[in-house]
Amino acid sequence: MKTKVYIETFGCQMNVADTERAATGLRIAGYDLTSAAELADVVLFNTCSVRERAERKVFRRVNEVRARARKSKPIIGVMGCVAQLEGEAIFDNAAGVNMVVGTRATDRIASLIDRVRIGETQVSDLGERATGESWEVSPVERHSPHVAFVPIIEGCNKFCSFCIVPYSRGREKSRPASEIVAEVKRLRDLGYKEVHLIGQNVNSYRPRSEAGLEGIQGATAFCRLLRAVAETGMPRIKFTTSFPRDFHPDIVAALEEFPNLCDWVHLPVQSGSDEILKAMRRGHNTTDYLRRVDSIRSSRRRLALTSDIIVGFPGETDANFQDTVKLIEKCHFDALYIFKYSQRHGTPAAKLPDDVNEAQKKQRFLELEARHRQLQKGIHESYIGRQVSVLVEGESTRSARDMTGHSSCHKVINFHGGAANPGDLVNVLITEAKLNSLYGEYVN
Ligand code: SAM
Repeated sequence: MKTKVYIETFGCQMNVADTERAATGLRIAGYDLTSAAELADVVLFNTCSVRERAERKVFRRVNEVRARARKSKPIIGVMGCVAQLEGEAIFDNAAGVNMVVGTRATDRIASLIDRVRIGETQVSDLGERATGESWEVSPVERHSPHVAFVPIIEGCNKFCSFCIVPYSRGREKSRPASEIVAEVKRLRDLGYKEVHLIGQNVNSYRPRSEAGLEGIQGATAFCRLLRAVAETGMPRIKFTTSFPRDFHPDIVAALEEFPNLCDWVHLPVQSGSDEILKAMRRGHNTTDYLRRVDSIRSSRRRLALTSDIIVGFPGETDANFQDTVKLIEKCHFDALYIFKYSQRHGTPAAKLPDDVNEAQKKQRFLELEARHRQLQKGIHESYIGRQVSVLVEGESTRSARDMTGHSSCHKVINFHGGAANPGDLVNVLITEAKLNSLYGEYVN
């Protein structure tokens, strides 16, 4: 019988993509993948370290698996960002862990498991990706049969003072455009309806060679990549995350040229206070950011704009926070992901006193969320009476007579099903605005 591996994924889309890639490699090496931890011979946790809470959750899960599996004693591995940052210290801090697999060792997991199986008790690999490693992901390992994540850039060079990513994922490395375009064509031929070009900062894309971009115009390599990917004819293309400083207006021009580039931009601002943005070392101030927002909002297409905000960064006063409230009132974000500042060891901000107490962070979080909800309600209501294009993902969890999916503007749309099937691209007439979604009727 084949050895069964279970992988549990935490964190961002990059981690989901790494899990898909790791699973592909493991199956090629002769392992079986299982979705049940209790049946597994090897349990891997693909971890996130962006906030402390995510990190703590992993160690809780390691203990749970260890406690439940007293008799079978699976091999336990920690992979991803926590593994890269904590390295072999994990062996001391979490009893029972046999493997530590860094963020660039995804393709070498099978050989690490082999080493444990022949007797080593603790193995680790925190090395770089080997040149020429394949980014190939088998369709069976993809998280959806209709939507595929395609990494275009790894790592981060920005060094925002609060952020651990440059340390956990290393410097920015772009995949050759020729490889990305070929992957998207393969996905299109397999019947995928949507790809998400993903990376910590997709618009900082800077490949080493022109391969795959020959003859394609654009102000930056990312703008050219967008056009090259759009020309494949993949029905829908989304991309995330965009970094404000590198957001060129030609991205909006590309969206206007190609209907298969979707109506959505995710552009994290982090704060509405110039003083705090400077301390965060974001490389943009609110004026720069609002200029980007203007180019998005003045597009011929109606583009949805979403963002991330951190409340309670060291030194954030009430007045700084009120500047953030004012900024979201100007931007009218379609969705906002709000985080309470979490001190990350090793980042420049960790040297500053974490002086906004938990109660203040919570109060600012709730106030910002409430104001955002009011603004979002207006945006959602403005869709009533309009038709949106929806990629059907399945039955709605709320009602079996309804279907659910995402619009091109990346909103959750539930609708009265009609003849729609998962994987279909359909038009839905919006009839109702809900808190987190829109509701409508299938239009034949
Ligand atoms: N690269 C993107 C950027 O900075 O524009 C975002 C990547 S990060 C994985 C996703 C979000 O997590 C960030 O936009 C930020 O809002 C949040 N985040 C990152 N570090 C954090 C920290 N130390 N505390 C709280 N939230 C944090």
